[in-house]
Amino acid sequence: MSTTYNPYHNAQTQFDGVAKLLNLDSGMSEFLRQPMKELHFTIPVKMDDGSTKTFNAFRMKHNTARGPAKGGIRFHPHENADTVRALAMWMTWKCATVDIPLGGGKGGIICDPPSLSKTELEKLCRGYIRQIWNQIGHEMDIPAPDVGSNPQCMLWMMDEYETITGAHYPGVITGKPVGMGGSLGRTEATGYGCIYVLKDLLRILETPAASTTASLQGFGNVAEYAARMYTELGGKVIAVSCWNQADKTAYTFKKSDGCDIPQLVSIKDQYGSIDKDKAFALGYEVLPGDAWLSQDVDILMPCALENQITPDVFPNISSKVKIIVEGANGPTTPDCDVLIKERGIIMLPDFLANAGGVTCSYFEQVQNNMNYYWGKEEVLEKLEYAMTKAFRGVYELAQERNVYMRDAAYIIAINRVADAVKLRGWA
Ligand code: GLU
Repeated sequence: MSTTYNPYHNAQTQFDGVAKLLNLDSGMSEFLRQPMKELHFTIPVKMDDGSTKTFNAFRMKHNTARGPAKGGIRFHPHENADTVRALAMWMTWKCATVDIPLGGGKGGIICDPPSLSKTELEKLCRGYIRQIWNQIGHEMDIPAPDVGSNPQCMLWMMDEYETITGAHYPGVITGKPVGMGGSLGRTEATGYGCIYVLKDLLRILETPAASTTASLQGFGNVAEYAARMYTELGGKVIAVSCWNQADKTAYTFKKSDGCDIPQLVSIKDQYGSIDKDKAFALGYEVLPGDAWLSQDVDILMPCALENQITPDVFPNISSKVKIIVEGANGPTTPDCDVLIKERGIIMLPDFLANAGGVTCSYFEQVQNNMNYYWGKEEVLEKLEYAMTKAFRGVYELAQERNVYMRDAAYIIAINRVADAVKLRGWA
């Protein structure tokens, strides 16, 4: 029987393990293992057919000791309070790992974006801000996109905030469209960030990217740009799995001599699903959604949702796999971390590997404050520097203390946040 995982319990289990390792004071642990503030609210939306639909939504601020809460808003039918709590907590560790002056927060709306019209989606975004506008702000809490939301949603939200407050505050939200306060490189940042970290790891391992193969789960923003940069470095993507909105199931698209990423992007439909008939016509094998995990590749990149790599599916992972790059938040369960560690697979953990998105969001805010915008090259150069620096810190600590890379990242992040809490005199 398969176990049901709760992301918040997973996040707390990970935290508790490292808090013990660090001999963290019990008062501090109690404070850091839960969000500081939670907002639960409803958003009424007048739908196109004249009916009113009520959406449940959240904004959770896990910790603000190092700066304003920061994190995306996820639009998903299976969103719930515990998932948002976990995601908010991981944002705190993420911002601390890359050492940007921000805390952690996350939002969520229980909804199915593809089933909403553009007008309904706009009303939902504006309604979200109407409920929390006095709890967010560029110096308080800064939302951003996550799964199911996009730059247009961020712009509607910024516009609603500015309409209510009567002034321009582009830094209230990040992930905005370029030209409307958004940063060049923000769309690519999370995926590219994963590959900057992987690139530095491969350099240490003296393994040329061109001699490696990979399989990815997901084909949204994160996976697409990770796959693009990885193949530009010479790596070969053997398979990608992608959710199919029409069939409400996922498929894996495989090409043993390497997927053509721009080609797969070109056959995505309006919901972001890869058209399976077109893929088949182009010579791709169309396999079940979970086939991405069992490919004979060197690198696995889960870039979709949480709880994907569990002890149940662990035996399906090929003995060839040497590295896991977590583009998603929380894709591996704590009980499976034990098995991955035992097998000696190198783990590039989520809040390090996928920190490129929030790091670029921070750059976006810096540019908003200056009201002066950098070129793409400048943004990406700063991003690579920040990601590589964070990776080296984590890698070196993992080597020095002979700990799993996820634990090393936690040690760095928890120490930084606990220091800020102590300096402020909160605990
Ligand atoms: N949602 C993204 C994440 O999980 C980005 C958050 C942000 O840019 O604030 O890291």
